[in-house]
Amino acid sequence: METIDNNTQLENFRKEVSEWLEGNCPMSMRQPLNDDSDYFWGGRDVKYKSEDQKKWFEVMKAKNWIVPHWPKEYGGGGLSKEENKIFLAEMKRLGCRLPLFSFGISMLGPALLKFGTEEQKKEHLTKITAGEIRWCQGYSEPNAGSDLASLQTKAEDKGDHFVVNGQKVWTSYADQADWIFCLVRTDFEAKQGGISFLLFDMATEGVSTSPIKLISGKSPFCETFMDNVKVPKKNLLGELNRGWTIAKYLLTHEREMISAMGNASTTAPLHETAIASIGLQNGKLNDSFIRSDIAKWSINKAAFDITLLRAMDEFKAGQSLGAASSFFKYYGTELNKSRLELLMAIGGFEGLAWEGEAFNNGQLSRSFLRSKGNSIEGGTTEVQLNIVAKHILGLPSR
Ligand SMILES: Cc1cc2nc3c(=O)[nH]c(=O)nc-3n(C[C@H](O)[C@H](O)[C@H](O)COP(=O)(O)OP(=O)(O)OC[C@H]3O[C@@H](n4cnc5c(N)ncnc54)[C@H](O)[C@@H]3O)c2cc1C
Repeated sequence: METIDNNTQLENFRKEVSEWLEGNCPMSMRQPLNDDSDYFWGGRDVKYKSEDQKKWFEVMKAKNWIVPHWPKEYGGGGLSKEENKIFLAEMKRLGCRLPLFSFGISMLGPALLKFGTEEQKKEHLTKITAGEIRWCQGYSEPNAGSDLASLQTKAEDKGDHFVVNGQKVWTSYADQADWIFCLVRTDFEAKQGGISFLLFDMATEGVSTSPIKLISGKSPFCETFMDNVKVPKKNLLGELNRGWTIAKYLLTHEREMISAMGNASTTAPLHETAIASIGLQNGKLNDSFIRSDIAKWSINKAAFDITLLRAMDEFKAGQSLGAASSFFKYYGTELNKSRLELLMAIGGFEGLAWEGEAFNNGQLSRSFLRSKGNSIEGGTTEVQLNIVAKHILGLPSR
């Protein structure tokens, strides 16, 4: 009896979500994303691409559905795991874009919820759900990428504050971010055991950034320099010298985020793009090789999606997938890279365009080049396979 009631409640919730989304999500926010400029990132220097984008963000914020599964006291929607699953499925079914893209939501938030003090949660989570603060990630350094625990940026204890000196690299959107979550060395004797996790304002005196240009012609990330940056002690997340545990936990969430790239709700289905570009003959795509590649890709993507859903079901609400996130990161990024390779093949000569409004300023070839970074960011493919070998397959390290 109880199960039936619960199912009925969930069915009612699905109806409610569906009707609300239909009524409130502008049609232009139900189209696949064309390029990076379609993402809304929020932050102090807020920029909307269109009135619809602004409206969509504002109605979702008023409904507390920017981060529907976070607790209500921090601006979340307080949805249960089942309700959140329904919410995401309806968003996907209707093709609704996410109202806000934020490293605060996908990376820092889960770490704050698990390791933050009540004061830190109140201060930072509420600003993340309100889209007020844009965060960046200060992990990698020139000599600490895969071997992250070799990082050298140091934070010296000065009583009520730390003084931070050092350099980060590949810091995505550091030049546009308001705050940074940053790994620092607070003990030079221990490797992992000497790392702490600090949060600070990018407007603090002594913080500077220098954009790095990519092969795609864009500069989505920077070198970030810290020169005698004063950080109040209350901005230490977790305990002193215990930042490595937080860093690893956050990485599992980052990998989940990266593995969901190429999600069908935000990108046009491959077969539709192919039909529009290549055309049909006798009801079939007029290129048998591409038709067969799209079929293979779509089967792999469907298998990936249901495996991801199954894995999510097996974990409790709010928990990370742990080592399994490495498997999903690896395979999800391979899928995204092959999706872009297929789009290039579908585009033919037009796919090679680099400039010109008729070719969307070369967005396709730029995205294709950008996708190569997927198997590096958030930990390289080789490192993910090492984790799968050791922690999932139980193979010996050496
Ligand atoms: C698009 C993009 C965005 C990024 N954004 C951020 C960001 O916002 N913040 C941030 O802190 N960092 C960011 N990074 C950095 C990213 O985390 C690092 O590039 C990554 O961890 C690899 O480090 P590395 O570049 O120093 O390469 P290295 O660690 O020097 O690796 C070089 C090569 O050696 C291989 N290798 C290294 N160790 C092993 C091993 N043990 N076993 C097998 N092979 C190994 C690697 O797989 C790789 O092929 C970003 C990177 C990219 C590409």
